[in-house]
Amino acid sequence: MSRFPLTRGVVDRFVAGEQTIDAVTATRRLADLGLMSTIDHLGEEVRDTGAAVETTKAYVRLLEALRPLGFGDKAEVSVKLSAVGQALDDAMALDHARQICEAARENGSTVTLDMEDHTTVDSTLAILHALRTDFPDTGVAIQSYLFRSEADCRDLRDTRVRLVKGAYKEPSSVAYQKKSEVDRAYVRCLRVLMSGSGYPMVATHDDRLIAIAETLADGRSDYEFQMLYGIRTDKQLALVRSGANVRVYVPYGDDWYGYFMRRLAERPANVAFFLRSLGGK
Ligand code: FAD
Repeated sequence: MSRFPLTRGVVDRFVAGEQTIDAVTATRRLADLGLMSTIDHLGEEVRDTGAAVETTKAYVRLLEALRPLGFGDKAEVSVKLSAVGQALDDAMALDHARQICEAARENGSTVTLDMEDHTTVDSTLAILHALRTDFPDTGVAIQSYLFRSEADCRDLRDTRVRLVKGAYKEPSSVAYQKKSEVDRAYVRCLRVLMSGSGYPMVATHDDRLIAIAETLADGRSDYEFQMLYGIRTDKQLALVRSGANVRVYVPYGDDWYGYFMRRLAERPANVAFFLRSLGGK
C-alpha cells in the first residue's frame, strides 16, 4: 500500500516482507540466532467485514505454515484488534481473535493483543478477558504513557503482559507527555508486573529500562525482553548471549504505512536514514 514512492530497501529494514513465506523465513533466521518471534500481519483500522475476515485468514495461514516447523511458543503472533473488526463490532473482533487463538493453540503457541490508541483500551481488555476463559495464555500490550496503566497492570498481574511506552499521539488528558514521566511510569508498571504471577514481556530498546528490568526480576527467569525487527539487533543478540529470553516483533504484509510512520516518528535518526535512501545514498 504505497502512499508515496519508497525504495523497498527502506521498508525492508523494518518489515520482513509481504508474503507468509517471508515471515516464516524471518522467523527461521531469528530462531537460528536464538531469538523468538511474535509475528504481526500488518494492517489496522479495518472498516469493512471483508478485510477483517481476510486478515484473520492471513493469520491462520501463517500459523499453518509455521506448524510443521515446530517452533511452539517460540513463534507466537501479535494481533491488532482493529485489523480484525474492532471498529465495526466487538463481537466480530472477538470471534476473529478466537479463530487466531485456536490456530495458535494447534501450534503449542499463543497470541498477544497489541494495544492501539486510548479509545480502544477498554474494548481490548474486555476482549482479552473473554479470550482468556478458553485461552488463558493470551497476552496483551500495556502502554506506560497512559495514566490508567499502573492500575491495569495490577489487574493483570497473573497475565502475559507486554509492557511498552506507547506509540500513539495521545492527549494530555489521558497520557504523560514528557519522556521522563513515561519512563518513570514504565518502571512503576514493571515493578507491579515483576512482583506478580504472570509473565512480563519487557518491550523496549531503552538500555536504562532493560537494566532496571534485570534488577527488578531479582533472579526470576520467567520473563522476556522484546524488541522490534530491525531495531537494535546488536542489543538483541547481546541479551541472548547473556542468557536472557528475547523475542523479536516481526511485521510482514503490504499494509506497512502506519507501522512504518510510527517507527519514523520515534526516532529522528530513522527519518535521516529514510531521507538518505530516497536520495539514493
Ligand atoms: P525510546 O525512549 O523510544 O528509545 C530508547 C532508545 O532505543 C533510543 O534512544 C534508541 O537508541 C532506541 N530506539 C527506540 N526506537 C527506535 C527506533 N524506532 N529505531 C531505532 N532505534 C530506536 N506500542 C504500542 O502503542 N502498542 C503496542 O502494542 C506496541 N507493541 C510493541 C511491541 C514491541 C515488541 C516493541 C519493542 C514495541 C512496541 N510498541 C508498541 C512501541 C512502543 O510503544 C515504543 O513506541 C517503541 O518501542 C519505542 O520506545 P522504546 O521503549 O524503545 O524507548
